[in-house]
Amino acid sequence: MQPYESPVIQPLHSGLINKFAGAKSPQHQVKRAIAGVAVDDLVAQYGSPLFVYSERTIRQQFRHMRNAFATRYPDVTFGWSYKTNYLKAICAIFHQEGAMAELVSKMEYDKAKALGIPGHQIILNGPHKPFETLEAAVRDGVTINVDHLDEIEDLEVIATRLGHPITVGLRLNLDAGIQPCWSRFGFNLESGQAKTAIERIARGGKLRVNGLHCHIGTYILDPNAYACQVKKMVQFGYEIEAQQGWRMDYIDIGGGFPSRSRLKGAYHAADVLLPTIDEYADAICDALWTTLKPGHTPKLIIESGRAMIDEAGTLITSVCGTKRLPDGTRAYVVDAGVNLLFTSFWYRFNIALAQAVSGAAEPSVIYGPLCMNIDVIDDQIALPPLSRGDRLVISTVGAYNNTQWMQFIEYRPNIVLISESGDVELIRAAEDITDLERREQLPARFRSNVAIDARRPVCTSYSPSSIAS
Ligand SMILES: *Cc1c(COP(=O)(O)O)cnc(C)c1O
Repeated sequence: MQPYESPVIQPLHSGLINKFAGAKSPQHQVKRAIAGVAVDDLVAQYGSPLFVYSERTIRQQFRHMRNAFATRYPDVTFGWSYKTNYLKAICAIFHQEGAMAELVSKMEYDKAKALGIPGHQIILNGPHKPFETLEAAVRDGVTINVDHLDEIEDLEVIATRLGHPITVGLRLNLDAGIQPCWSRFGFNLESGQAKTAIERIARGGKLRVNGLHCHIGTYILDPNAYACQVKKMVQFGYEIEAQQGWRMDYIDIGGGFPSRSRLKGAYHAADVLLPTIDEYADAICDALWTTLKPGHTPKLIIESGRAMIDEAGTLITSVCGTKRLPDGTRAYVVDAGVNLLFTSFWYRFNIALAQAVSGAAEPSVIYGPLCMNIDVIDDQIALPPLSRGDRLVISTVGAYNNTQWMQFIEYRPNIVLISESGDVELIRAAEDITDLERREQLPARFRSNVAIDARRPVCTSYSPSSIAS
């Protein structure tokens, strides 16, 4: 039986450009398979919603990026930014490809250690390095980039305990022409803060600086910003060398290359907007060659997160309800919302249908399952009339969603990896109530009488006249 829906008359605006650059072709995309595996089969076995990662895409993207730099500069190392995606299987793939672990917290440090990553393959960044973590990192031979003065003092205490000097890197922030300028991490270059920090370190006599780090931001669309950053870093490195005699062994330029998901408000599609990786590599390596002294080729460390993994991740979601809003707008409720797609606050995803659906496309809103008004996946997409059970395939969602996702009222779903030979492997099982309650404690005094107090509920009555007025 067809579900009944009262008729509405709605002008069709689909495909028209609007001030948010929201025009989408009314010709919706159909994507029946992910990395060669049918969406229907994936859902039949693992349910919906479902995160799906393609191992082939991850390895290809890593190699593409590595080759872009390795063909232009002799000493390049990548650090996998754990905070972008710290699923064990994902980290393991990057480590197999030769990436170090780039960590920004104790939790991430514990994760890398649990994966068996040795200290010399770890870079420790971040504004909060607990003393014990810092001390363990020093003992493990980790590359540590110092964020602030108190950390310098902690490191001096550790050096005193160990009885020998410690070699560290200094995190800088600088003006590379990117707005807003991220000035909260590390020491500012232009104000002289970084120079003062170097002098402070030298006076202490317990630490030595052998590298510089700087991460200018994320989704950086201008390769010249990196060129500017690299020149400033190299020049500052030579200043340090001249003053203290410390030679820079590495220049760590952080991450920030954009992925193909589209920033909200961006007028053009990612393909039009994004420079290629080769353009970034050209800008960065040219800047190195023009500023480095002959014969000095410090290690170039790149901590690209988003651009490495975003495209490898896809989310399958299903329509669980269809609506017509009071203003006539077509709306759908799907089983994945901002709880799973935290980055949808900033990015507009590519949303395809897993099956062909006939009928005229109309502007539609896609809501997630949360009981909060901001749970919107897309509010200006042209879709043909969908029914309950229809599936959407959302990409590119591999960056930051599986680390920033939130618990709010839902379980987190299965995550699978499709291997290069097309096998589907579960890499994180869906949660159930035991995962959520394992850490909770119910004080004994509540245990015998948790039954609801049966006082009469207070309820104001609905009156048609109040509505009419
Ligand atoms: C987040 C972060 C990265 C990765 O940034 P992307 O924009 O995802 O490439 C690299 N380095 C540091 C220090 C970071 O905090």
